Amino acid sequence: MNFEFAKKDLTKELSQKGIRDPRVLEAIYSTPRHEFVDPTFISRAYQDMSLPIGYQQTISQPFVVAKMTELLIHGNLLEERPLGAVLEIGTGCGYQTAILSRFCRKIFSLERIEALSKKAEDNLKKIGVNNYQLRWSDGTLGWPTPKKFDAIICTAAIPEIPKKLKSQLQIGGKLICPCGDSKDQKLFLLEKASKEEFVETILDSVLFVPMLQGKISE
Ligand code: SAH
Repeated sequence: MNFEFAKKDLTKELSQKGIRDPRVLEAIYSTPRHEFVDPTFISRAYQDMSLPIGYQQTISQPFVVAKMTELLIHGNLLEERPLGAVLEIGTGCGYQTAILSRFCRKIFSLERIEALSKKAEDNLKKIGVNNYQLRWSDGTLGWPTPKKFDAIICTAAIPEIPKKLKSQLQIGGKLICPCGDSKDQKLFLLEKASKEEFVETILDSVLFVPMLQGKISE
């Protein structure tokens, strides 16, 4: 199947919906989303919608992936790879991991469902991403070994941002997290001003699967 037209259409659509950073549009264009979706949905791989990936989870909507990426890298316009270590909570199939891998030295990602973590590993290998580390672990507890991150992105929603994640963020770093329940969620952007101080910006309404505690093996 040739996805060239579909990729171009999706990139154009995201630009019309307000994604401005050309590097993000280029990342969306050149990341093969069809390698991440379930074969049943391959014909819809470049539609701007979330799709099921099994285990009651989804691959995020491209607009949301692009928007969150844009927010994280904003302010670093002159550099090719502006960020050092980035932490993602909710690897899912690895699509957002692949997009972010282009903008940081290394992306670390946590997933609570073992089978998805394995699937993401296969997907990332298949498309040639190599600056990543995945772990099957509960992301509400943060990265399992002590580490500080330049940016943290949560791709599942939680009523309140876990303290551990705030503490694993470098001073000057950004944390993006959808906050709320299944009916009402808003995207929160936190910038860490000092060890205890965060500048909080509340952005758009969003709809993510919930961030749940504990890890499961299926
Ligand atoms: N980043 C993915 C989005 C996957 S959906 C993408 O690019 O498409 C969100 C994922 O978060 C699901 O796979 C879900 O299992 C995972 N998740 C939910 N709670 C979690 C937790 N506490 N720790 C780690 N992963 C979690």
